[in-house]
Amino acid sequence: MVFRVLRPDSMSVWQNKEILRRFSRYRGIIDGDEIARYLIAKTIECDFSPNDSLEHLEILLHEKSLEFNELIEEDTERIKYRKTSSPSYIHLAETIANKYLESCIFCERKCEVNRIDGQKGYCLITKDSYVSSAFLHMGEEAPLIPSGTIFFQGCNFGCVFCQNYDISQSWKGKRNLDDIAQKVDVKKLATIADKLVDKGAININYVGGDPIPNIHTIIGSLNHQTCNITQLWNSNFFLSNKALSLIIDLMDFWLPDWKYGNNKCAKKYSGIDNYFDIISRNHKRIHDDGSGEIIIRHLVMPEHIECCSKPILDFVAKEIPKAVVNIMGQYHPQYKAYQFSEINRRPTSQEILEVKRYAKSLGILYEPVS
Ligand code: SF4
Repeated sequence: MVFRVLRPDSMSVWQNKEILRRFSRYRGIIDGDEIARYLIAKTIECDFSPNDSLEHLEILLHEKSLEFNELIEEDTERIKYRKTSSPSYIHLAETIANKYLESCIFCERKCEVNRIDGQKGYCLITKDSYVSSAFLHMGEEAPLIPSGTIFFQGCNFGCVFCQNYDISQSWKGKRNLDDIAQKVDVKKLATIADKLVDKGAININYVGGDPIPNIHTIIGSLNHQTCNITQLWNSNFFLSNKALSLIIDLMDFWLPDWKYGNNKCAKKYSGIDNYFDIISRNHKRIHDDGSGEIIIRHLVMPEHIECCSKPILDFVAKEIPKAVVNIMGQYHPQYKAYQFSEINRRPTSQEILEVKRYAKSLGILYEPVS
């Protein structure tokens, strides 16, 4: 048996009644009283052929999503006795994901390159997924640790201040992926996840870089995973609507980054178009139609309180009130941030305090995870 010293707040956070209420299903999976959504999806029978047209498969996906959402309302005891089906709802999602790879639209960059044929879009990832590391993360938010975190190489963003630039961007055009990360197929990824569960993980946390370019591998691995464990999507959240439809029912917990409160700042520092419109749309979907168990990570950036922090918090309070926000004060200039004088420093304690006060004034829950 492996004994680990956990951060004390990882236990005490569950004494917070509001955390327990908002994350009740997640807590239930940890305690074995609830079933992870992907295991439920495996029991949904799905009759299709990989040769069916994409349009037909997308209609079927929508129908299966409705079936899933009816089923998940049923009593857990009844769900427990359902048999795994093959092909299932997950096989369908995997098949569609692989078709999207032929003209990639996983994220809103919509490069439309054929990644199966080895073409590369902005993220420079072909059909092959690469894991740079996988371990029990003890530094995540208190309700999440120990978190079985899997870091994918590559990212669809180009943030000038990237805090993970070694695995997201700086290798691009300079290093061969096979030299710096481990190539994984669906079975290998499932094995990595299972090992993390054996080590004591209470969730499987897909991050990077970003997991978005690897959706097909992650969904495929769910066909090979068997543990009743929370599936957690930890991402910049710039998914296309269609890509989000593939995973919205399969993920139990969402850990999105929400950096910018407007489109202009996102364009300037991350090279992204329509950021706020897309990110707010995706947050609304997971809140209203997904599990709704969400911790938003907001990195407070110097000089960006009025234009970014406050509009994000306004949206959270008004549109997605079940979400909990981690107000993060650890921004520091990294990578190419020195090129922009306004973000070439840490945020002051006054700036961080102002964001926290504003969140409090809106009734947003942030303290237990910040
Ligand atoms: S994941 Fe996004 S950035 Fe990468 S190829 Fe697909 S659309 Fe382009």
